[in-house]
Amino acid sequence: MVIRTMGTHERHRLTEVINARGTYTPLGVSRSSAGVAAAVAEALPEFFVMGELADRASEAIAHSTGAQAGAITHCTSAAITLAVAAAMAGTDPDRIATLPDTSDMHNRVILPAGQVVDYGQSVVQAIRLAGASVTLAGDENRCSIDDLDDALAGPDIACLLLVSSRLVTSEPMDLTAAVRAAHRRGVPAIIDGAGQFPRTADLLATGADAVLISAQKYLAAPTAGLVVGTHRLVRAVRAQEKGIGRGMKPTKEAIVGVLAALEEWHAMDRAKWEADQAAKVIAFVAGANELPGLAAEVLPDPAGLPLSRVLLTVSGGIDATTLAAELEAGTPPIFVMTDRSLEGQLVLELVPLDADELEIILTRLAMELQATEKAD
Ligand SMILES: *Cc1c(COP(=O)(O)O)cnc(C)c1O
Repeated sequence: MVIRTMGTHERHRLTEVINARGTYTPLGVSRSSAGVAAAVAEALPEFFVMGELADRASEAIAHSTGAQAGAITHCTSAAITLAVAAAMAGTDPDRIATLPDTSDMHNRVILPAGQVVDYGQSVVQAIRLAGASVTLAGDENRCSIDDLDDALAGPDIACLLLVSSRLVTSEPMDLTAAVRAAHRRGVPAIIDGAGQFPRTADLLATGADAVLISAQKYLAAPTAGLVVGTHRLVRAVRAQEKGIGRGMKPTKEAIVGVLAALEEWHAMDRAKWEADQAAKVIAFVAGANELPGLAAEVLPDPAGLPLSRVLLTVSGGIDATTLAAELEAGTPPIFVMTDRSLEGQLVLELVPLDADELEIILTRLAMELQATEKAD
């Protein structure tokens, strides 16, 4: 860890952190491999015909996912805005130039109320940025296919947007049935699956016209959004680069980085990767269970990603919120997931962490728990 990151952190006076919070944007999201980093470094001093690069990216995304085509945007948030723009304006140059004014277009996006996630910005704002307006279907806890069907029956519908994420807290929805309900009305369906790269094929199998994936999350590429889907929608997304998509375009280094990361993903032994990740979690859980005041267990991913996390239940002299704050306040700062801290629980994602970092986390947990025991 020290050798890999010392240069940049030291030169610019930046804090070295241990990130057990997952693919979290304010901490730099993920770690790219040496191969992806080298591909990016090789691309930066070169010129490219950008249209060609985008064509190669489309072929690589299609080959890797089984979809018809793919486009790359600046990030997934941009992909949401541009997929909605594509559904409203298609490839019509006048409409593309008119956005975000949508007065002569079908401009209503249907979104299940329980899938209004906030990933640092509300997904509703990413949709509205294209000039669309949002109609929520169902309520916060549940949206039935009938609820969806009622909403889709309204006038001026541009598309259905669905979100697949661990951030969704409502009752799970049958995404395939939802996509079918949209298609029965002739409405395209788009799935925001930003954090779901390993599940791209599952999300495409719903029949969605496009699945939006974050390249910098589980693909561990440079920051970019992948629009994976039909020729028609992908072509319309690319056409937005002459309109509101100008400020959301991918960089050449991001596209080349995505190409390298997709190649590595294919060459990788996935069963071994999953087994290695599982072993890492099990070993950490065993280590954490040795510590007084902690109960650790394996927590499967709620959205169905092929990875588990560590669930720590904190008891004794310290509450979970304070423990998380102490971990962050120490050196190096350690970040964990705190969505369940009010219930006395912390969640750790170990995927990008090495053995040294896992050791440091266990040592620091032991120190913080001991400190509170002494204070009692
Ligand atoms: C992270 C995330 C986004 C935003 O992705 P970026 O690539 O950072 O723009 C959108 N939707 C969901 C569900 C996310 O988890």
